[in-house]
Amino acid sequence: MKHSNISIFVPHKGCPNDCSFCNQRTISGQTVPATPEDVEAAVKTALLHNVNPKTAEIAFFGGSFTAIERDYMVSLLTAAKHFLDTQGFSGIRVSTRPDCIDEDVLKILKNYGVTAIELGAQSMDDEVLLWNRRGHTADDVRKASALIKAHGFSLGLQMMTGLYKSDFAKDEYTAREIIKLKPDTVRIYPTVVLKNTYLGFLQETGEYKAPTAEESAPFCAKLLELFGKAQINVIKLGLHSSETVEQDMIGGAYHPAFRELCEGYIYLQKILEKLKDCDKNRTYEVFVNEKALSKAKGQNKRNEKALKNEGFYCKIKGKHNLPEYEAEVNI
Ligand code: SF4
Repeated sequence: MKHSNISIFVPHKGCPNDCSFCNQRTISGQTVPATPEDVEAAVKTALLHNVNPKTAEIAFFGGSFTAIERDYMVSLLTAAKHFLDTQGFSGIRVSTRPDCIDEDVLKILKNYGVTAIELGAQSMDDEVLLWNRRGHTADDVRKASALIKAHGFSLGLQMMTGLYKSDFAKDEYTAREIIKLKPDTVRIYPTVVLKNTYLGFLQETGEYKAPTAEESAPFCAKLLELFGKAQINVIKLGLHSSETVEQDMIGGAYHPAFRELCEGYIYLQKILEKLKDCDKNRTYEVFVNEKALSKAKGQNKRNEKALKNEGFYCKIKGKHNLPEYEAEVNI
């Protein structure tokens, strides 16, 4: 059954920080904090659109949920819990900072039916965290993750790639450290530079240049495989596409279908691997899982073109039951 989130954004509210990349208003596309009435309206709208409560969570994203004023936080949770009790929604998901988790707040979240907590880890390199003004350490991520798991919540961790003073080696280290924490889910966000942020300022002064989507895709493809091998579900790869992000972005790795770009890259590598001992200037039939056909061909058939440039004329076709990211070649 398909899982869905009813997303409610709590932008920047209560956040005492000013992370280098963050302009929550742009990312969430919303400037006014959500109210309990907004929660009610969002859930009712979802129900009208036939969302199945049994497979849906009510999700508070966009800020530091456990850092917002306590009465306000409880008012939002009360509004959401009403629908857990009356409509059977599967749970409540919140996102927050690693240094805003303690025993007390976890007990409150438990009482109101929260089932999943996502932490913005962003990096597990303390220097990168410092340079990007995160205001917490990698150890805060480790401690908060352990506490969340000990209290029986589903743990989600979010990481970023291409931050100021980071590089792919440090980002891979972050991914490997995250795997050690055994989260249930991961989100990977390659850095997008937005107007009115510290990264935007650094970019203007020439001090920083974030990797583009094309530069980030091969590396993020590697991360996708790394988490896959550890059986950790990557539920998001790339910032969600929105008009406000498109208006406010001034650099970095924004692409409206970034995950497909990465998955296309995985397929290209798999096919090239299968063809490595094959004769060039010949035509081959390549099979991939039928559901992954468009990913394997790549956006605008870029993989077919890249294979042709290597001397392999490939007809990529779908096949039933082939595992994800696998390719077979008729030689
Ligand atoms: S902690 Fe989160 S909401 Fe606050 S500035 Fe950083 S990214 Fe933005």
